[in-house]
Amino acid sequence: MIPSVLPTYNRAPLSFVKGEGSWLTEADGRRFLDLGAGIAVNVLGHAHPALVAALTAQAEQVWHVSNVYTIPQQQALADKLVAATFADTCFFTNSGTEACELAVKMARKHFYDAGKPERTTIIAFEGSFHGRSSAGIAAAGSEKMTKGFGPLLPGFIHLPFGDHEALTAAAARPDIAGILVEPVQGEGGIRPLPDQCLKGLRDLCDEHGILMMLDEVQCGMGRTGKLFAHEWAGVTPDIMMVAKGIGGGFPLGAVLASEAAASGMTAGTHGSTYGGNPLACAVGNAVMDIVSDDAFLAEVNRKAGLLRQKLEGLVASHPTVFEGVRGSGLMLGLKCKVTNTDVVKAGYGTGVLVIGAGDNVVRLLPALNLTDDDIAEAAVRLDKAAASLDAA
Ligand SMILES: *Cc1c(COP(=O)(O)O)cnc(C)c1O
Repeated sequence: MIPSVLPTYNRAPLSFVKGEGSWLTEADGRRFLDLGAGIAVNVLGHAHPALVAALTAQAEQVWHVSNVYTIPQQQALADKLVAATFADTCFFTNSGTEACELAVKMARKHFYDAGKPERTTIIAFEGSFHGRSSAGIAAAGSEKMTKGFGPLLPGFIHLPFGDHEALTAAAARPDIAGILVEPVQGEGGIRPLPDQCLKGLRDLCDEHGILMMLDEVQCGMGRTGKLFAHEWAGVTPDIMMVAKGIGGGFPLGAVLASEAAASGMTAGTHGSTYGGNPLACAVGNAVMDIVSDDAFLAEVNRKAGLLRQKLEGLVASHPTVFEGVRGSGLMLGLKCKVTNTDVVKAGYGTGVLVIGAGDNVVRLLPALNLTDDDIAEAAVRLDKAAASLDAA
């Protein structure tokens, strides 16, 4: 008999009833150090006082009004994002997947309106993840996500990650609208795109007059130690997808774009019932105020250094379990020699939550405000988990 919850997830038998900072309490009372943060969502941990205050204050005023009205909380958040980034304009969604949908529509409409309707194809990369909608799975292209769900949305081509020659050739095609890439692949196994590749990608887009589209759903919102990961390379995209961290746990996403890239998105061309509603944007504003602060980001970088050092030590202590550490800021991956899901399960046993990813990696995407004590405790609990997997 099919479970009453559609069984598309392999769920662990853990039910969390309370969260505080980087800690979660299970129904049976056990405490877990949460290094997954809802997969890079809870950027300020659980039950952050400023987010609770923003949410409850807004809840007592007005939860939802349609986008046919002006929403001051949405306007305020858009102004903040525009002030802090390359973008001239924002559209708010409820998820990363919806942001992907709009990014693709926006790119195609841009060229349609520019009198180049043949430019519809988007270049994407193997190992990428852009959500589970028809556009999202077509964009990522992996058989794991697309098999059985055809016919797929046309207009995507997939290149090997890091193959500059293939990219140079593809970008010259007359049907290309843009290049879509995660500056740090998340689901694909914490694979950062080197800064020079992002720069080269920007140059290719400029040379051919195509759009640079970044998916910062997982790597954005302070995760890598800059507000957005592309800032490390000193380049700016034309369109950027944001979600996960921006709501700190409340469903919220956004597409940020330059005025030129967004030029086709006039009244009536796109919409969302919930996207950018007062509750979501009240929380988004509170997240943005904290995470975009330079002192906060400096602390993210310091803590990232500390955590990475601990992970290097962990790898050195358990050479039969781990191969190495990779990633950027507080978006870290442990490449495993044992099966990654065994590491995740061993963590359940020692009270530490990490997340599996592609390429046999376990991901650490902790709250950006985890404490130095949390980092020390992470090392202890991960070491115990790894010890249970050491070759005899
Ligand atoms: C999670 C994720 C998405 C999809 O976001 P949802 O909120 O799950 O729809 C898209 N792109 C990347 C890079 C992601 O990590």
